[in-house]
Amino acid sequence: MSPTHAPAGAARQGSLRELNLALVLGRIAAADRPPSRADLATATGLTRATVSAVVEDLLAGQLVSEADPAPRAGAGRPARGLVLADQGPAGLGLEVNVDYLTVCVVDLAGQVRHRTVHRADLRPVAPADALARLVDLAGQARADAARQGLTLAGAALAVPGLVDDAGLVRLAPNLGWRDVPVPELLSGHQALTDQVPGVPALVVDNEANFAALGELHSRPPGPASFLHISGEVGIGAGIVLDGALFRGVRGWSGEIGHFPVHPQGRPCRCGGHGCLEQYAGQEAIVAAAGLLRAELPADTATARLAELAEAGDPDALRALHDAGTALGVAVASVVNLLDLDTVVLGGGYAPLAPWLCPPVLAEIAARVLTAAWSPVTVRPSTLGPEAAAVGAAESVVRRIVARPAGWLGRSG
Ligand SMILES: [Zn+2]
Repeated sequence: MSPTHAPAGAARQGSLRELNLALVLGRIAAADRPPSRADLATATGLTRATVSAVVEDLLAGQLVSEADPAPRAGAGRPARGLVLADQGPAGLGLEVNVDYLTVCVVDLAGQVRHRTVHRADLRPVAPADALARLVDLAGQARADAARQGLTLAGAALAVPGLVDDAGLVRLAPNLGWRDVPVPELLSGHQALTDQVPGVPALVVDNEANFAALGELHSRPPGPASFLHISGEVGIGAGIVLDGALFRGVRGWSGEIGHFPVHPQGRPCRCGGHGCLEQYAGQEAIVAAAGLLRAELPADTATARLAELAEAGDPDALRALHDAGTALGVAVASVVNLLDLDTVVLGGGYAPLAPWLCPPVLAEIAARVLTAAWSPVTVRPSTLGPEAAAVGAAESVVRRIVARPAGWLGRSG
């Protein structure tokens, strides 16, 4: 019998069970310490019997497991706490950027269980070929996940550009992509993940958005509102307000790399002039420091800059100071507009933060009206350079936690 013809009572029971599963799993996910069944009954207002039945379903579906009991003095068996499972469903996170591909697997508990970074200049590579390479890496990740008892329940792909609701990459200027139908190009390949009801097979979004989500969900939890800036060849920002990503009307917010910091300045790939990217993008900093990027493997450019700055090389220090000043001008505008008190420097900016933060802070002090009595914190991201791929994988995991019935009811 199809669900639409089921008796109303059965439908209500089904949806009540789904709600209770999500309620209990959400509490386990958000808890600071592994809660016992009794803790969960108190926190949710459900009866002990209902909580026990829900927990049995979650245990059977490999969504939670029982933590080792804490040693307890005195008589009696200590109650076992519940934690998110480290086997069962996991999310596949993918990133295509200008000079690398990243694939990672994140389990329900937020642990990164697999990661591969493939360095290559992808600008001369056709989108279909770049995606084919990504599919190969994803296949290896899927096999590695299976060996660890994990099932990939959905995938999310981060790209350095503007993505529409259908996953079409409208424009990724630094990659040279325009109107690239990513889901269509990937559909010709073997499925990246298993099919799980309620979890999209593939979500495509801007890398800065996923990196900001990764930062938002990192442990220990940081502030609920902040600006996260990913500094790669291009520069993107993710705006998080009250614990949620501010996406803009069409999902295209955060293009801080094209803030004009010198309106009559250098031409930019976007068609404008004097964009932030031309002064604070990775290639711009490397060139200003007198390093020829062509002579450096892509993954060592940032490390080499940091090394030179550490050693007091005047060209590297000046290049980083000038980049930080340009970045600070743009950041100050955002802080004036949105009243944020935390700015996180991520991606390739994170290892350069010791030299970028002082000029960024100086510009904020000079340009933000409220800075004198309400200081703004500027700090590096706690996530590594794979923040966007990790954030993408976590977005899959969060869907499963929000709607566990889909995973429990999957076929096969
Ligand atoms: Zn531009």
